[in-house]
Amino acid sequence: MGNRSGLTGSYSLALRATALANARLEDPADVWVLLADQPWLRDIATEADLHTLRVAGHRLREVFQTVTAGHEREAVDRLNGLLTRYRVRPTISGTYAGDWHIHVAAPGTPPVEYLAAAVWGLAVWLCQRGIDRLGVCAEPRCHNAFLDDSSNRCRRFCSDRCATRNHVRAHRARRRATPPLTAARRSRTRSAVSNGTRTLTAKIWQLHTMGNCADLHRHSATDHPLRHPRAASPLC
Ligand SMILES: [Zn+2]
Repeated sequence: MGNRSGLTGSYSLALRATALANARLEDPADVWVLLADQPWLRDIATEADLHTLRVAGHRLREVFQTVTAGHEREAVDRLNGLLTRYRVRPTISGTYAGDWHIHVAAPGTPPVEYLAAAVWGLAVWLCQRGIDRLGVCAEPRCHNAFLDDSSNRCRRFCSDRCATRNHVRAHRARRRATPPLTAARRSRTRSAVSNGTRTLTAKIWQLHTMGNCADLHRHSATDHPLRHPRAASPLC
């Protein structure tokens, strides 16, 4: 069974390119995961196909990274290079009237057929939706490629999971940067006592200069929170 994704299915093909860019592809088991929805190719994939898919995935990833770095012209050149390497060869196929459909690439040439369709889909997405719709996840521990299908073109994360993880980390960082409430209250209390002491000291000095020791003792006993008036006033 060949690839039945036609031009109208370019979005699903662009998603395929994205999945390929994010695929691990270190051993044959990874190919089975990547091609879970393509059993016609998965069941015949070889070690050589694993290498081919890995190289293509790496180059697709470079396209996403180059866009994210702000080098649009370079990204387009890279994608054009992939279009040249994995050529689209549209073919009408089917077995009966009403079954006619387009294969983006000629059947029977796996995995090039698969790769040609993926690259074609990404190219159509880029031209129709805008190059800024290609992104790399901003979550430091992820960096997956993604297609931004948001209405405001401002998606930063590949998934809700990464967005939540990033927001939780940012929230914890803000909490670490903010002193606990009890410490803040202690700080405000120390500041208030210090200001009160300075005010009272000024008042005592004023009474001394006026020679009114009775007033001095009255103010010191009632106002000063820290010292006994007589011990604090050796001038009397
Ligand atoms: Zn992510």
